[in-house]
Amino acid sequence: MRHNIKDKKPMDKAAIALILCFSVVALASVFTVKSSLDKINLSDNTDITVPQKNETKDKSVAKRVPTVDSQDNPQSNIQNQNNGNSSSPSTWVVPVDGLITLEYSTELPIYSKTLNQYMVHNGVDIAAPLDSRVQAAAAGTVVETYKDDRLGYTVKINHGNGFITTYSNLSDKILVESGDVVKKGDVIGGIGDTSLFESADDSHLHFQMEKDGSLVNPSDYIDF
Ligand SMILES: [Zn+2]
Repeated sequence: MRHNIKDKKPMDKAAIALILCFSVVALASVFTVKSSLDKINLSDNTDITVPQKNETKDKSVAKRVPTVDSQDNPQSNIQNQNNGNSSSPSTWVVPVDGLITLEYSTELPIYSKTLNQYMVHNGVDIAAPLDSRVQAAAAGTVVETYKDDRLGYTVKINHGNGFITTYSNLSDKILVESGDVVKKGDVIGGIGDTSLFESADDSHLHFQMEKDGSLVNPSDYIDF
């Protein structure tokens, strides 16, 4: 056993010496590789800086092209605005004169007097006396008129560009029908008291707005 241990020790020493030698060689080679790499990197950098200058030159040339485009863009913007004016609302009007008494809140439930519970509110409630005129918030086509189980007599108008407005809690005297083309400000009906869900609130218009199939806050578009 002892002999074996003694035999092993010199072997280990020799092995360590060999490993040291190899490591020194390896380190040396690593340094040489590193230094050569650094040289390559330096040369690469210098090589890169030259094309970068060329690129910047190219970019400056390329920048001139977009400026030509941007000169064209205002025209296309104007065209878009014209399209917007003709086919979809560029500006909106309030559907009825009055203050917002219940804000749009689809994420945080708010208190409903009628239902005595907290619930989301998919539109804004605009206070107005009974039979106040309700007008189209923008030009569009009436999609449908119906009596909603919860929100009462309702008119839905498509304004193009993904915008749909919905007017609820109207009186039963609705002045438009589906397919009618309306201009901004055209009277579509009057304030009623037909919403079961909001019957305990003072008379008001429940007004919803959709953009591309999703509810949006009307206050983001209309200056109430
Ligand atoms: Zn409401």
